[in-house]
Amino acid sequence: MNPIVIAEALNKTVKIRAVKTTELVETARVKHDLFPTSAAALGRVMSVAAIMASEWKDAHAKTIIEMNGGGPCGSIIVHAKGNGEIKGLIGDPHVYLFNETTGKLDVGKAVGNNGYLKVMKDLGLKEPFSGIVDIQSGEIGDDFSYYFAISEQTPSVVSVGVLVNPDYSILAAGGLIIQLLPDAPEDSIAYVENLVKTMKSMSTYINEGKTPDEIIQLLFPDANILDQKEVYWHCDCSKEHFKDALALIDRNDIISLMEEDHEAEITCQYCNERYHFDENDLIEVLEKKDAMESRKR
Ligand SMILES: [Zn+2]
Repeated sequence: MNPIVIAEALNKTVKIRAVKTTELVETARVKHDLFPTSAAALGRVMSVAAIMASEWKDAHAKTIIEMNGGGPCGSIIVHAKGNGEIKGLIGDPHVYLFNETTGKLDVGKAVGNNGYLKVMKDLGLKEPFSGIVDIQSGEIGDDFSYYFAISEQTPSVVSVGVLVNPDYSILAAGGLIIQLLPDAPEDSIAYVENLVKTMKSMSTYINEGKTPDEIIQLLFPDANILDQKEVYWHCDCSKEHFKDALALIDRNDIISLMEEDHEAEITCQYCNERYHFDENDLIEVLEKKDAMESRKR
């Protein structure tokens, strides 16, 4: 179970969304053979993406996050849909960096702080909305706070965390976004500022066995729960999808695959599922290509 809870508090001047993502991040870890710091980095981005996509009423509306701070873990890409489906990948799944001073996984160093954070919102319209900001610390929570402030003009507190067991399995993961609504009064702002100083990290609350619902009630005793959703790992790849992708490569390359290799294999980057294409499949790919090109003419 990976529940997201959406609530409002302080006389409807604050919107709060919290998610537990322990199982979701564990699935990503198994699919990608993630080492602890890579798991924490991808898990944090997945937790924010899950919360952001929860705003969609349309099941197929999508939030896509792309982040690259020039650090050793490379690009992080996460797709999250309105129906709760989420998938993600990380450039190097095998990063294990530890900060001796804090005793914690060094996500900031793994992600790097010299690059960009890009958010695309695809509602199936021609022009998806997209916002891009510079990465601030690579710690991900700070970076999304900055994104919301600059790109969406919404002051936000973003707390995300992933705790990893010694055997690399995921102990606890979750995310929390607190947003002040426009014209929030001074006392709401002061309440949230004070909360930030005193609250524990999201992964600590989850590890204590608290549900997102309970965490919200603890931080905002007057909170009113508006909605609950479920998020889960799902990759929408298929053999048909990859046939379409193969049809985009050069005709001569497809022919040489047929004549020399008699087959092709493609591995999905998101879920590592392998798809095998025999000669008949490749003939179909060529037919698709012909059909695509005759439509263009
Ligand atoms: Zn896949």
